Order: sequence, then C-alpha cells, then structure tokens
Amino acid sequence: MLLGCCRFPLTSYVFANTRCRDKSRSGLSRKAATRQIHANNGEYNNNEKKVVIVGSGWAGLGAAYHLCNQGFDVTVLGDGYDFGDPDDVGIHGFWYPYKNIFSLVDELGMKPFTNWLQSAQYSKEGLEVEFPVLQDRPQLPAPLGTLFYTQFNRLPLADRLTSVPLMAAVIDFDNTDMAWRKYDSVTTRELLKQSGFSERLYQDVFGSLLQVGLCAPLEQCSAAAALGMLQFMAISHQGDLDMVWCRGSVKERIFNPWIELMSSKGCQFVDSKKVIDFSFDEETGCISDVVCDNETYKADAVILAVGISTVQELTKNSAALNTREEFLKVLNLAASDLVSTKLWLDKKIKIPFARNVCSSFDDSSGWTFFNLNELFDEHRNSPVTIVQADFVSIML
Ligand SMILES: Cc1cc2nc3c(=O)[nH]c(=O)nc-3n(C[C@H](O)[C@H](O)[C@H](O)COP(=O)(O)OP(=O)(O)OC[C@H]3O[C@@H](n4cnc5c(N)ncnc54)[C@H](O)[C@@H]3O)c2cc1C
Repeated sequence: MLLGCCRFPLTSYVFANTRCRDKSRSGLSRKAATRQIHANNGEYNNNEKKVVIVGSGWAGLGAAYHLCNQGFDVTVLGDGYDFGDPDDVGIHGFWYPYKNIFSLVDELGMKPFTNWLQSAQYSKEGLEVEFPVLQDRPQLPAPLGTLFYTQFNRLPLADRLTSVPLMAAVIDFDNTDMAWRKYDSVTTRELLKQSGFSERLYQDVFGSLLQVGLCAPLEQCSAAAALGMLQFMAISHQGDLDMVWCRGSVKERIFNPWIELMSSKGCQFVDSKKVIDFSFDEETGCISDVVCDNETYKADAVILAVGISTVQELTKNSAALNTREEFLKVLNLAASDLVSTKLWLDKKIKIPFARNVCSSFDDSSGWTFFNLNELFDEHRNSPVTIVQADFVSIML
C-alpha cells in the first residue's frame, strides 16, 4: 500500500477482492444539505497522518492494523453491517500459504481454526480425487509431492499425464512483468488446450478446481492469473493445497476481538458510513476529505478496501473520481457473482470429506460444498446435517 508521506493522491486503493457480493448500494449520489466535519480523533494531531479506510473486510482490517501499529491516525468506515458480513460468507477456508493470517491469529492469541483438512473432488460420475494432508507426507521436490500423493480414483494415467506441459508453464511463470505479458494475452482455457490437456482431465477434475479458485469462467480468465494462482495456492511447496477452516463465524472468532484490540490502540471504527464521494485540495491535487451521506472525514490518505463493483459504483457517482484515468480504467474490469447457500437436511447424512470441490453437472461453473457439522463447533452435535454450498457464477 502506498503510504508514508504527508499527502497522497487518491491512488492507494486496495483491490484484494475481485469477487462481489450483491448488496444494495443505492443512494450513492445523494448528498445531504448539511455535513458535519469530523476531526476523526478529537484533536487534530499534526504528527499523525490521518488515514481513512473504506471497507472492513480482511483488506480493510489488515491495513488498519498495520497502520495503527505504525502510529497513523486511522479511521475505518463500515457500511452498516456492524463490521462483518451478517451472513458470514467469504473466507472460511485458509490455505497453507496464508502465513500472514496464521501469524496474526498467533500474535492475537486466538485459536479459531480446525486442524488441516483432507479434501475431495467430485464429478457427475462420483468421487474423482482425494487430497490427503500433503504436509504430513514425506517431502518431495515441488510440484512432485502434490502430483504423487494426490489420489485419482477414476482418471486414467494417460489423461493425468497430459497435465505435464501445464506444469512446465507453471514453473516458467515467475510472476515478472515479462511473464505476465507472455501469458496474459491468452485465456486459461486456451492455455489448457494449447498444452494438450485431455478433455476428460479438464471436464472432470481440473476445470472446476481452477474455476472455484479463480471465481471465473476459464474462457474469460487470463492464463497468467491461473498460473499465478497455481503457483501460490497449489504447487510451489508441498502442502500449499492444505487448508484449515474457521470453527465458527469469522466475525465472532476473529474480527470482533481484533477490532476490540485495535480500538484500544486508538483506531476508530465508524459503522453505517456509506462513502459517496471525495474532495480534493485544489492546490495540491490530493485528496482532502471523504464524504459520507451527511458527514465528511478529513484524510491525508484513503484506502479503498472494497470490491471492484463498489469502486466502479463510487467512480461513476463521484465527481472527484470520474475524471481520473486510473479510476476510469477500473470501469473496464469485470467482477463475478458467487451464490452461497446453507442447507439444513432433516437427518444426519454421512459425508466422507468436510471440504469438497465439484465439477459442474451441466454447463455452469464449478462449485464447492462443506460439511459444517465437521467444521463448526456449534454444529458438531446437531441432529441435522448442515451443508454450505458455494457456486461460481458468470462474470458480469
Ligand atoms: C461465498 C464466498 C466464499 C469464499 N470463500 C473463500 C475461502 O474459503 N477462502 C478464501 O481465501 N477466500 C474466499 N472467498 C473470497 C474472500 O471472501 C475475499 O477474497 C475476501 O473477503 C476479500 O476481502 P476484502 O476485505 O478485500 O473485501 P470484502 O470482504 O468484500 O470487504 C469489503 C467491505 O467493504 C464494505 N463496503 C462496501 N462498500 C462500502 C462503502 N461504500 N462504504 C463503506 N464500506 C463499504 C463491505 O460491506 C465489506 O465489509 C470467498 C468469497 C465468497 C463470496
């Protein structure tokens, strides 16, 4: 994030989330006749730079925590859900590479997670793949461990071997600008076709794994994004695919105590403040205020820790943003919808794995389901079966 000098142009936005949830964002252009001016922390302190963070998900809270620890005067604005999603959708599964989150919960003395989980992959024919906890197996050079220990139940060896050229591309992709230029011009689907991926491997296994990881149809998604994700979340180190799950609501187990700690250090959390616009200082060309419905917050810097569709809506409705090239470019981006469902089945059903990925049973995208009786402490002894299923939808 771009912070560290007295005044910043409004370019330090955080786009950690390209998946959007459909919450009403109406009334963005409404401006009240009178506005109160907040000094954020009572007295204005020249030594502390004021940072206003819009959004209170992982990106907003993570930024607030680091800035607050560095002595910035931080105000986090939430949009009315009491700092946390009421439906608690979003990150529940935490992959082995999420080192920052694991060290955070250790630092805060929390124990919110399950043990490492085995998982499974289903096609319409049945159980295709079993993923053991890879870090528990004897270590092999990456990516051999992931390929060797993963158990394919139905897929013939000949189909599995067609993935080898893709592994070469994953190793070739070193996340440099040059690598992005090389692979960004083709879609993930094209890359798989060019690599000679067998149709069966794609349809029954790999396609859905990539779709649920990228939250996008592979025909529309950059091959560079897919290779980057595979490197980070799958095969750089044996164990990258391993995951733990939050043993209950993330808001209750992590966000609330975290916010309490930050508040005790002087960080301000102001809920029900839907940001609608920004003011610029004419002389410096830098942001000076964040405008909510009927209030204005002074700022030396602003972090937009919200999804793409919120930034697009803000840009369209904001006189300050809709002339700036960097924000107009955001209007070209696509976001995808996810549908998250929770099912209560009226009897106990044995589900072999707590965490499961499924390929589509029709022409739609991949989906996942999770056995919450296994994962959530509060559902462990429930007489009914509680399953969460998340479906990746089309890009808008
Ligand atoms: C169903 C589902 C399941 C997922 N599962 C996983 C998973 O298992 N593992 C994983 O790693 N990732 C998962 N993800 C992705 C993950 O949720 C996101 O990557 C992550 O939440 C992004 O965090 P964020 O802070 O950037 O954005 P968000 O969590 O979206 O937070 C943005 C916040 O800004 C607020 N806001 C929006 N507009 C305004 C405004 N105008 N003013 C003030 N506040 C505003 C929103 O209410 C929200 O609280 C999942 C996503 C979904 C939808």
